Amino acid sequence: MMEWADYQFADKTILVVEDIDTSIKFFDAALRKSQAKILWSKTGEEAIEILENHIADIDLVLLDLNLPGVNGFDVLKYLRDIDPELPVIVQTAYLFSGERKTSLSMGANGFISKPVQLVELLNNIAKFLNPELNN
Ligand SMILES: [Mg+2]
Repeated sequence: MMEWADYQFADKTILVVEDIDTSIKFFDAALRKSQAKILWSKTGEEAIEILENHIADIDLVLLDLNLPGVNGFDVLKYLRDIDPELPVIVQTAYLFSGERKTSLSMGANGFISKPVQLVELLNNIAKFLNPELNN
């Protein structure tokens, strides 16, 4: 059974890079109870700008791959160039095989497929933001 007490990230900031409104609504609802501070970005360009200016304030990035213009792989490459450590969880609806492998080889720390399940999402985030929790 999931306990919200295990998923309290009140002092943490998560950058959510996602372009689709229904997914944005899902992440907003899913993360609200965690009390994490959320920074939102709908494009890769915007995500890179946020990372450029606020990377020290960000504790985790939830990254969609399929974005208009600069895609998630480009954002991941940029991020790893400036910070090899910041946890990144890739989330994508891509059905092509190889997405997971490519993401992980580019330095992503986790990978979840859409449609994202609430507990799977929270457990993946907790791995990095609440490491005491046994996943
Ligand atoms: Mg997308």
